[in-house]
Amino acid sequence: MHPDLHPFGILFLAALVAATATRLWLAWRHVRHVVAHRGSVPAAFAGEIALAEHQKAADYSAAKTRFAMVDVALGAAVTLAFTFGGGLELLHQVSALWLSEGIARGLVLIALTALVATLIDLPFDYYRAFVIEARFGFNKMTRGLFLADAFKGLAVGACLLLPLAALIIWLIRELGEYWWLYAWAATVAYGLFVQFIAPTVIQPLFNKFSPMDDPELKQRVERLLERCGFKVKGLMKMDGSRRSAHGNAYFTGFGNAKRIVFFDTLLQQLNPAEVEAVLAHELGHFKLKHIVKRMVLSSAMSLAFFWALGFLMKQPWFFAGLGVASPSPAMALVLFMFALPPFTFLLQPLGAMYSRKHEFEADQYAAQHASSGDLVSALIKLYRDNASTLTPDPLHSAFYDSHPPAVARIARLQKA
Ligand SMILES: [Zn+2]
Repeated sequence: MHPDLHPFGILFLAALVAATATRLWLAWRHVRHVVAHRGSVPAAFAGEIALAEHQKAADYSAAKTRFAMVDVALGAAVTLAFTFGGGLELLHQVSALWLSEGIARGLVLIALTALVATLIDLPFDYYRAFVIEARFGFNKMTRGLFLADAFKGLAVGACLLLPLAALIIWLIRELGEYWWLYAWAATVAYGLFVQFIAPTVIQPLFNKFSPMDDPELKQRVERLLERCGFKVKGLMKMDGSRRSAHGNAYFTGFGNAKRIVFFDTLLQQLNPAEVEAVLAHELGHFKLKHIVKRMVLSSAMSLAFFWALGFLMKQPWFFAGLGVASPSPAMALVLFMFALPPFTFLLQPLGAMYSRKHEFEADQYAAQHASSGDLVSALIKLYRDNASTLTPDPLHSAFYDSHPPAVARIARLQKA
């Protein structure tokens, strides 16, 4: 261990080790549980899902989770390399080669850090798509599309994040004590702006959207929207099949710009009545104000994070404790990004629990405004076609899953 490791550094290391070990242990439990239940389809699904399909789901879940363990270990190694390993310090020296102290140098440090972190992730993303997803028949991406996505992702990320980072650094330098309050307000406002332009400006860079054309489905959906008292500008179909065979549906934008997007893959998997039930579930999230509640919650959390950053930035031990010798506003921002996750690790199961509560509520809403039987058959098809496991490890599921296990959801819907 480093001879002059600061108590804060020791605390951070302890949190990192605890979080990493817990994640690895949960993943190991999940694989063990899924493999142990590989032999037979759970009773509730016996008539709907064939043994071969159940076994494919088990193998797919095990393969994904084993790979996630590599990802967890790599993430910890990358964090150590950037902090104690001198990575951030080195990038600072690179940025200082041709720039003097100021906003531009800060932006170069942030951009270099994001670039290096993305390049480290790239081979892992490649393996996930072209080895794991491909082995189970889900990958539809070409190598050209993968590379184009990576370049576009970096370019879009730079266009979106660098202006905000510049503003935050400027606020830190100019506003003194309460900069974090202004930076928080600016970040929340900017986040709303990005969500507002996303459906028309950002998402079309990656996918093609076309109006939903199936007349029967369109009519059903319009009747449902009317029943639920819902106004929406666009019902869109997205070419999700360019990248993956997994199906999905989502809401995007807000206010007048909100639209409902169905993956073409979902429309192929489900019949119109099932699509209607899935849409009713999505409308439930909206009508029950889940989306607004989440936005308020995440804004409140980011206020706490900005306050913490404002406090830590003034502490020399924050930098020295994590192996950084060149403090600056930009350095504080990137260092905070690496230092935070091990300390907020236990917020994840709380967030997942909150999300599962909303999923149950949205299912209830769907059962009232569409057919619960259609939602059940849609869920079974989606679990089957996406090879999602029906037998997750209960602890792993409680910790991570944003959606309740299929067995629990379907049991509640059948009671409705
Ligand atoms: Zn949902």
